[in-house]
Amino acid sequence: MSDFVLFKNLFNEWFAKDTSRKIKTSMNAKFRAGEHTCAYAPIGYKKNPDIKNKLMIDEETRWIVEKIFELALLGNGTSKIMKLLIADKVPTPSYLNYKRFGTFSNIYADAPEEKAWEWNIGQVKSILKDETYIGNSVHYRQTKASFKSKRRVYRDKSEWLTIEGTHEPIISKSDFDNVQGQLASRRREKKDFTTQVFAGLLKCSGCGWALTYATHKRKDGTYGYYKCGKYSMYGKGYCSNHHIHYDTLYAYVLSRLQYWSKQAHTDEEKLLKKLLNAGDRESGAVRKKQENDLKRAEKRRAELDNLFTRLYEDWVAGRITEYNFNMLSAKYQDEQAQLDEQLNGLKAKLNETRQTSTDAEQWISYIRETAYPTELTAPLLNTLIEKIVVHDAVKVEDGTKEQEIEIYYRFIGKIE
Ligand SMILES: [Zn+2]
Repeated sequence: MSDFVLFKNLFNEWFAKDTSRKIKTSMNAKFRAGEHTCAYAPIGYKKNPDIKNKLMIDEETRWIVEKIFELALLGNGTSKIMKLLIADKVPTPSYLNYKRFGTFSNIYADAPEEKAWEWNIGQVKSILKDETYIGNSVHYRQTKASFKSKRRVYRDKSEWLTIEGTHEPIISKSDFDNVQGQLASRRREKKDFTTQVFAGLLKCSGCGWALTYATHKRKDGTYGYYKCGKYSMYGKGYCSNHHIHYDTLYAYVLSRLQYWSKQAHTDEEKLLKKLLNAGDRESGAVRKKQENDLKRAEKRRAELDNLFTRLYEDWVAGRITEYNFNMLSAKYQDEQAQLDEQLNGLKAKLNETRQTSTDAEQWISYIRETAYPTELTAPLLNTLIEKIVVHDAVKVEDGTKEQEIEIYYRFIGKIE
C-alpha cells in the first residue's frame, strides 16, 4: 500500500463519459421527470424494478439511514457517529454494494470481516447532507473543472438542480433541517481545534516551510485548507501552493493510524518485524556510513597527535622556526578541535541508530494504547508522528489528480 491519496471520484460514472450537449439535454429532461440515473441507489433506497430510474425505499437498509440521523439528532458529531457505527458493526454502503452487485471486489474479496463496517467521517457527513433522504433528487452537484480536464469540482449550490418530491422520503424535512443546523455550528466550533491538531507537523515538500491554515467561504459553508507558508507570504517564484483540504488530510491521516492500530492489535510480532526491516533498509546504509566516518575520524585524530609530537620535537631540535611552529600548531589544534566535535556527533548518532529496535517497540506500544482511533487529537498525532510532508497535486494520465502525502512516524520514519 503506498502513501498516496487518490482523488478519484467513483460516482456519477455517466457524467465522466458525457461530452455531448445532446446527452446532457436528455439527462436534464430525465431529471425533471424525477428519474434517478446513477449506477447505484444511495443506501436506504433501491431502484424500482418496475419503473426505470425511479427510487424506492429499501426496507433492508433504511434503518442505517434512520440510525445515522437519530444519532445526529441526539447531538452526536460525525466522528462520534462513525465510532458508534463501527462499534455496532453496521455495514457500509460500499460493502453492501459489494454484497449485492459485486462492486469493489478488489477491496472486499480477501479483506478481514471488519472491513465491512469500516466507516469514515466523509461517508457519514455525505449521508447527513443528502437531500435524497427527504424525497428530493439533486443533480449537477459536480462538474468538470474545465472542458479538457476530467477533474471533478463541486459546483456552487445555486447551480444544483434539485427536484422535490421525486420519491418517498426516509427522513422528515424538520429533522433534516435540524441536522443541517448542527453540522454548520460544529464546523464553526471546529475552526480553532482544526489548526491545533496538525500544528507544527505539516511541511511543504518544495521548500520545507510549515503549511499555514486558512479558510475559504462557499455558499454551503466555510472550508479549511492548508498551503505552503512561503508561497502564502511571497507568492509565485518562491514555491507553489501545496494546497490540501483539511477534511482530505484529516481523513487520510486517520485512516493510516487506524491501519497501523489494527496491525498492532492483530499481529504485533509481524508489525515489529516489518518496522525493523523498514528501519534496517533505510538506516543500514546510514549506519555503515556513520561507522566508516567514525573510523576515519579516529584515525586522523591519532595521526594529528603524532604530527603534533613530531612538530614539537622539530622545534625543540631547532629544525623549524618558532614562527612556523606557531603557525602549524595553531592549524593542528584547529583540526583537533573540529575532529573532537565530529567524533562526539558521530558517536551520538550511532547510538541513536542502534536505538531503533527499542524505538519500534515503543511506537507499537503507543499505537496499541490508542486502541482503534476514531478521531485525531494533537497529543495522539504528536506521540506517533514526526512530520507530514505534503506534495503538490499532480494530474495523472487519466485526468484525475493525485497528491502525495508522506507521513514520517516518530522513532521509525516512513513506513508503508
Ligand atoms: Zn513550499
